[in-house]
Amino acid sequence: MATDSSNRGIGLPPLDISAAFPQATPASIFPPSVSDYYQFDDLLNDEEKALRKKVQAFMEKEVAPIMTGYWEKAEFPFHVIPKLAELGIAGGTVKGYGCPGLSITGSAVALAEMARVDASCSTFILVHSSLAMLTIALCGSEEQKQKYLPSLAKLQTVACWALTEPDYGSDASSLRTTATKVSGGWLIDGQKRWIGNSTFADILVVFARNTNTNQINGFIVKNGSAGLEATKIENKIGLRMVQNGDILFNRVFVPDEDMLPGIKSFQDTSKVLAVSRVMVTWQPIGISMGVFDICHRYLKERKQFGAPLAAFQLNQEKLVRMLGNIQAMLLVGWRLCKLYESGKMTPGHASLGKAWTSLKARETVSLGRELLGGNGILADFLVAKAFCDLEPIYSYEGTYDINSLVTAREITGIASFKPAMLGKSTRSRL
Ligand SMILES: Cc1cc2nc3c(=O)[nH]c(=O)nc-3n(C[C@H](O)[C@H](O)[C@H](O)COP(=O)(O)OP(=O)(O)OC[C@H]3O[C@@H](n4cnc5c(N)ncnc54)[C@H](O)[C@@H]3O)c2cc1C
Repeated sequence: MATDSSNRGIGLPPLDISAAFPQATPASIFPPSVSDYYQFDDLLNDEEKALRKKVQAFMEKEVAPIMTGYWEKAEFPFHVIPKLAELGIAGGTVKGYGCPGLSITGSAVALAEMARVDASCSTFILVHSSLAMLTIALCGSEEQKQKYLPSLAKLQTVACWALTEPDYGSDASSLRTTATKVSGGWLIDGQKRWIGNSTFADILVVFARNTNTNQINGFIVKNGSAGLEATKIENKIGLRMVQNGDILFNRVFVPDEDMLPGIKSFQDTSKVLAVSRVMVTWQPIGISMGVFDICHRYLKERKQFGAPLAAFQLNQEKLVRMLGNIQAMLLVGWRLCKLYESGKMTPGHASLGKAWTSLKARETVSLGRELLGGNGILADFLVAKAFCDLEPIYSYEGTYDINSLVTAREITGIASFKPAMLGKSTRSRL
């Protein structure tokens, strides 16, 4: 994994927040978790509860003190990766091959606890674990699983997952990157965009159109392959620590043994997307929990008109609306995990979870931003950072709209992805 040596000097938030608000607890001390009003924790088994606590403690101790500095500079804190590995969450629900074999609920709650403190870290793990590793586990050969999963589970190597292209985002099944059969392997040509972790990932799981069959196949491409180039996308307003890349493939050779045998068409990606959308459902939940915790502390610390902000009825109503959203989101996320565990979950269920929690979280973080007044637009006070981080989550792994349409297709039997003016509504493969 290529690491960044320019991290020296990063670590302190750019602003001394005591100048902005002298009574404030320093933002590096993340507030206690106070959003579990309906005691959701009671629904978890002992293992899941312990994992939740472990991830929470890790994020508060290791990530909270440094994250604003890295976020502002749009750099990834590579030194955190070995400590992250010790949490034993990479690989999530995958069993064997050195992976933790967690319950989906445990895995989801761990992701939410990461997002509560820092959404970029949770996205780093989501892409590595719930997209790339899961694709290898579900669609890879026995040899590929044995070869790649153990070091990915220990985070000794990092993976990314490359589906989106500059011209094909929501319409990903129309992708144009090609895979042409040659002696002993395949040549990949084309472009990918937005690929998280891709500027430093050791392996890239790449989807390309087989020029013989016109179907989508999957490939494991190694970093450093000739003809492969990844450039960081700059100037993002959210998830700034995540290194998203534009990737160019110019006749990149992939040996036969690195073609994923389980991906024979675009439909096969839905096996992975259904599970990863369960996980993404939990990121807005975690972000909302963190914003609530920050607001809860802030409103008690800051005074106006001679009273803490928490004493004003309007502010209290906003806090309660945020809290109510969080209770409902937790229960939706939990039920989704249970449907998955009992084999009853459909793609529409997963899409509704992702769409709905991201919608409710948007309301929750915007109330939080408002509650902090002017400080609500400073990354240093953390709510603005969380507010911005939610935006890309609203749009990735299927936008709010696309996930709504996946659920709508399931409940009406009518696909409406293509406008009527393009002729008969086709069954989209999203
Ligand atoms: C931070 C970040 C990280 C990402 N990481 C990855 C990654 O690791 N790997 C990867 O492969 N991709 C990744 N993506 C890509 C992501 O999945 C796409 O951005 C997403 O699918 C939306 O595609 P688009 O941005 O091209 O938007 P578009 O498809 O251009 O959509 C623009 C707007 O039009 C709406 N729209 C489009 N089609 C329809 C329709 N049929 N009906 C109604 N409305 C419609 C959308 O909802 C949206 O509001 C990432 C994106 C971001 C921002």
